[in-house]
Amino acid sequence: MALLNIINPSDPVLRRKAKKVTRFDGKLQNLIDDMIETMHDAPGIGLAAPQVSESLRLFVAHLEEDPDDENNSADGNDITIPGLGRIHVMINPRITYFSSESAVRTEGCLSLPGYLGDVCRALEISVKYTDRHGHKRKLNTNGWMARVIQHEYDHLEGELFIDKAEKIWLADQDSDDESKASN
Ligand code: ZN
Repeated sequence: MALLNIINPSDPVLRRKAKKVTRFDGKLQNLIDDMIETMHDAPGIGLAAPQVSESLRLFVAHLEEDPDDENNSADGNDITIPGLGRIHVMINPRITYFSSESAVRTEGCLSLPGYLGDVCRALEISVKYTDRHGHKRKLNTNGWMARVIQHEYDHLEGELFIDKAEKIWLADQDSDDESKASN
């Protein structure tokens, strides 16, 4: 496994619509493993392939068990790390449902270190995706997980949270907020 370089926002890859993953080969498995390692090292709670210069429709997300997210346990395929929570690997995701109920919360992004912003997102979503073994899956989720998936999905469309944030500011570098919110 290796750490990948998280590219600068001026890199056009970050603004490109990513391509569908069609090959579930060893190269893809290595990329996924490297993305998980890079996300942990950053540290962040989500990382999309375009952020590491791979224009592919794929992201990884890592959330600690959240008592609000009781629906998340339905998908038995994701990796659970004792004491750390679950890693979701979503390939070619499609968000098929957005609740009309939404909320504004503060987000950050590993591609824009130091910046935070208040973003309005749907509280509940359904997402259809393919897992790393090529199996089709569906996840209904809410709360912070739903937010992270919407943020990562936007990366696949070439969009950044600053495009839709109501307010953007530079975080206090010592603040806890930043690492919690970075994806
Ligand atoms: Zn991001």
